[in-house]
Amino acid sequence: MANSQIENVVIIGSGPAGFTAAIYAARANLKPVMFEGLQAGGVPGGQLMTTTEVENFPGFPEGITGPELMQQMKAQAERWGTECFTEDVIEVDFSQKPYIVRSTEREIKTHSIIISTGATAKRLGLPGEKVYWNNGISACAICDGASPLFTDEDLIVIGGGDSAAEEAVYLTKYGSRVHLLVRSDKMRASKAMQDRVLNNDKVTVHWHTEAINVFGENNRMSGIKVRNKETGAETDIAAKGLFYAIGHNPNTSLFQDKLELDRTGYIVVKPGTVETSIPGVYAAGDVQDREYRQAVTAAGTGCMAALSAERWLSEHNLITEYSQNSPEIVEAISEEVVRSSNKADTEATFDINATRHYGGYALRKLFHEGDRLLMVKYVSPTCGPCNTLKPMLDKVVDEYEGKIHFIEIDIVEDPEIAKMGQVIGTPTVQFFHNQDLVQEMKGIKQKSEYRQIIDSYLPTKVSS
Ligand SMILES: Cc1cc2nc3c(=O)[nH]c(=O)nc-3n(C[C@H](O)[C@H](O)[C@H](O)COP(=O)(O)OP(=O)(O)OC[C@H]3O[C@@H](n4cnc5c(N)ncnc54)[C@H](O)[C@@H]3O)c2cc1C
Repeated sequence: MANSQIENVVIIGSGPAGFTAAIYAARANLKPVMFEGLQAGGVPGGQLMTTTEVENFPGFPEGITGPELMQQMKAQAERWGTECFTEDVIEVDFSQKPYIVRSTEREIKTHSIIISTGATAKRLGLPGEKVYWNNGISACAICDGASPLFTDEDLIVIGGGDSAAEEAVYLTKYGSRVHLLVRSDKMRASKAMQDRVLNNDKVTVHWHTEAINVFGENNRMSGIKVRNKETGAETDIAAKGLFYAIGHNPNTSLFQDKLELDRTGYIVVKPGTVETSIPGVYAAGDVQDREYRQAVTAAGTGCMAALSAERWLSEHNLITEYSQNSPEIVEAISEEVVRSSNKADTEATFDINATRHYGGYALRKLFHEGDRLLMVKYVSPTCGPCNTLKPMLDKVVDEYEGKIHFIEIDIVEDPEIAKMGQVIGTPTVQFFHNQDLVQEMKGIKQKSEYRQIIDSYLPTKVSS
């Protein structure tokens, strides 16, 4: 869908960098448009949506969960007029002005762009990795190392560069022993960092060693199997934590040959600024930061990007100002609050004619007595992507009022139901037709994919 209006600024990516840029641009009356992303390069809300406690973001002495922090940032950005689309950007065109940003569903013309697409921590793809990710395996020792689960336990770091060396030393503050796995007979880390590792008697370096499997029990990692690359011997290392320090991939494939990137794909910015090689295009957060990669540094550069964009628009007489506090914004916030305060249906409140239902009681009743397609969404309270999916799915369900039954199940409140549905992750959406499970969708999908399934099970109208 092409739009003839020219926006002041489009922000690509919805991590701390993107939302901070959005807050600043919105407060400057620029009415920024944000593409939050969907599946490309992470999830809407960014990397913090995949973690639990964030202990080092200023302003939260008790800590805050990653998803909660991102939800707050989004609410603040929307409050001041940011327009968010939960879509992936698939193409940018910097060859003409205004610039063009194309997503999966629309095309937008804009005078300036802030790129905040972040970076993705590399994974090894070990068997068992998915099961124990966030249940022992982490890609961020600085973020997760202080967890009580790791205190006085054996921990493992994989990698041979500066980050691996730094993380190994850092983790000795918490773990009883840190095993550092290095694939060859030397480390790539600087001499100074290597000295710190080799002189630390709490670190054991396993040379010529690669991980081949992760194992555990009751969903918690308890160790890994390693192979000595010289002898081929396989042994187990018992440990409660495994930290990958094998690098990050910046999410910049969209900008290949369109912007100056460094040899590892990070966007090059002029030193001390967030300016890219294209005027009016700025880069903020991990996508241009190979060194610090923290939420607060991402937020800081997001602020710089918005201020720079505003200055640039003003210098080129391109600003269109929008007033704030429009009624729609207030409405959107109050609607969200009403929707999240729903309570589970009981015998007294259950209404078989309603479209939306909550909890196990409603699911059992509708499974046996309902005559519409059942769409069951399983969520959990700490699941970041569940928060992202909620408004998207709410819109889809609104379109099928009276035609389907939509039931939301909190798997913590209704563990038995989740077990019966064999749900192992959230969000999961299952579709039941005539008491048969006909489709299951894990994670966040495009709205059109949910519609497609619903449409295929709706009774077709017979014309008279
Ligand atoms: C498990 C974990 C725990 C962490 N804990 C901490 C912590 O405790 N404290 C701390 O300071 N830092 C922590 N970090 C690091 C921190 O999360 C990052 O430094 C920060 O999120 C970077 O922010 P960003 O805005 O640059 O990018 P990201 O958070 O990576 O966000 C990138 C965004 O871009 C979007 N995107 C990508 N491609 C596209 C596209 N084509 N179209 C549209 N959107 C797109 C993604 O959907 C995402 O929304 C942690 C990281 C991880 C992985």
